[in-house]
Amino acid sequence: HAKHQGRGRAEIYTDELALAAEDRAELERELLIGLQRDEFLLEFQPQIDVATGRATTAEALVRWAHPQRDLVMPGAFVPMAEESGAIVALGDWVMDRVCRTAALWAQAGVDQRIAVNISTRELGQPDFFLRLRHAIATHAAPPAMLELEITESLAMEMDPRILDQLRALRQDGVRIAIDDFGTGYSNLSRLRELPVDRVKIDRSLVRDIATSAEARTICSAVVGLIQGLGMEVVVEGIENEAQMDVLRIIGCTLFQGYHLARPTGEQDYLAQFAGQPSLLARDAG
Ligand code: C2E
Ligand code: MG
Ligand code: MG
Ligand code: MG
Repeated sequence: HAKHQGRGRAEIYTDELALAAEDRAELERELLIGLQRDEFLLEFQPQIDVATGRATTAEALVRWAHPQRDLVMPGAFVPMAEESGAIVALGDWVMDRVCRTAALWAQAGVDQRIAVNISTRELGQPDFFLRLRHAIATHAAPPAMLELEITESLAMEMDPRILDQLRALRQDGVRIAIDDFGTGYSNLSRLRELPVDRVKIDRSLVRDIATSAEARTICSAVVGLIQGLGMEVVVEGIENEAQMDVLRIIGCTLFQGYHLARPTGEQDYLAQFAGQPSLLARDAG
């Protein structure tokens, strides 16, 4: 920052902290405006089943095409939106877009599920399930094309009312996944009581499995536990072939990570993973 030149070091540091807070407050204001101006978009990252070589699920990941910044990633605004409560409006936008996309894919014969991230604050809203069902109905989205990703810490704290709602959604075909498993301190015996189809193992649990015997032991035990409860395992954050080799031996086949594919736009996803060139002509907006 040129305007800081000639000042003392400590002062620059303070200024930058203040700027960061200012920046944050500004982003927070801009987020709600950005929603009205339709500045958000979804990217999709495939989960690949290496048993068949096919992508079966696309995780929807939100991005902000801010007019004055580079594409803003969710790490920079989702936690902030959770704090301010704006996540409810953002989550509505995401859910609406996901349901619309699922309906269009279904019409076009695309055989892929779409997984959507639900944050703690969203799920805690008394009318969350009402709004979700409204989005599904509005677009006539097939529930069997949807998957909800709920973080591990949240899953462990869910009250009976939310669990009942999740059970009802599952009856309708919506799949429920626990996200970022292995990052929290789970009450493992509670896991079996949850209405959950699959568990996504966090990348921190697989980072070192190719080089560390201890990491391998832990990962193998976690995978065994989940499978033993009759749930599917998806492994996130696959960055190299060596990790996949170890995981295959452990018994995993569902993988998501940069090594397989980075998150990408809808049309690119369809072209690469769903063999749907006919959809390429459709307006992405
Ligand atoms: P997540 O749900 O655990 O999503 C996976 C994140 O890991 C994504 O980051 C993805 O791009 C990244 N990733 C995928 N493969 C790899 C890999 O091989 N290595 C590494 N280092 N990273 C990988 P992204 O898109 O920046 O999203 C970050 C988090 O933001 C998500 O973590 C999720 O918690 C949250 N998020 C994203 N979209 C939404 C949304 O629509 N709603 C809500 N509530 N949260 C969202
Ligand atoms: Mg996720
Ligand atoms: Mg995750
Ligand atoms: Mg996460």
